[in-house]
Amino acid sequence: MANQELELTIGWLYPTLMSTYGDRGNVIVIERRAQWRGYSVRIQALDQNATAEDIKSVDVIVGGGAQDRQQEIVMRDLQGAKADAMREKLDSGTPGVFTCGSPQLLGHYYEPGLGKRIEGLGILDMVSVHPGDDVKRCIGNLVIEVTASRLAKELKEILGGATPYLVGFENHGGRTRVNTQGGKVEVLGKVIYGLGNNGEDGTEGAFYQNAIATYSHGPLLPKNPFVADWLIQTALRLKYQQPFALKPLEDKLAMKARETMFNRLKVDLAT
Ligand code: GLN
Repeated sequence: MANQELELTIGWLYPTLMSTYGDRGNVIVIERRAQWRGYSVRIQALDQNATAEDIKSVDVIVGGGAQDRQQEIVMRDLQGAKADAMREKLDSGTPGVFTCGSPQLLGHYYEPGLGKRIEGLGILDMVSVHPGDDVKRCIGNLVIEVTASRLAKELKEILGGATPYLVGFENHGGRTRVNTQGGKVEVLGKVIYGLGNNGEDGTEGAFYQNAIATYSHGPLLPKNPFVADWLIQTALRLKYQQPFALKPLEDKLAMKARETMFNRLKVDLAT
């Protein structure tokens, strides 16, 4: 089949309510990198107007961050058949990237600084608690090394054997604890620079089936474009049931920017 006959549908969770700190950048990068390889791309908003069938129709899911109030509105909407469809998608390996507020909602619950606990979908075995506004938010640059085993291996392959570290930035009040004991979910990686899940245990994010959950915001894919390629490749493989090797793109500038940021932060760490 010619590439243009292959279609990738990106499901974008609540684009208006959940798009803080540049998270729409992740959608744009997946879209463009798929188009540059000649694939057709459709973007499906998964918001208040969407149905469970819409959720089932997508090949890759992107969820951004949100403020506590917006998260509550989202969770009131994401109930019943829509919640079941999300669960079914992620359980069966639909790839996705979920940033900050959206992973909090994929976990068991999120406790905001003010107000009542927001029950999550319970897909990721983790809980998030905001300690209140008198405790400092976790804000700043973030560098992690991906340790989630299968993902680390596959990213390393795309990188031609190099260590899969990701550069980005975080801005969150909530502190997340991932329960890896159940064996269902792994942490995404270990923190090299920044605070990550909770600023205490050195972990960052979570990885479940093919879902990446992270506190690293929407420049995540612009800054680490090989992760977008992993999402595209995984989505196409699942949809068309055949292996996909994506044509390499000219990423010199993005990779140089990533390396420069990492090297600058290493100097910070050493001083
Ligand atoms: N409301 C959440 C927190 O502060 C998420 C913030 C965000 O998505 N940027 O932890």
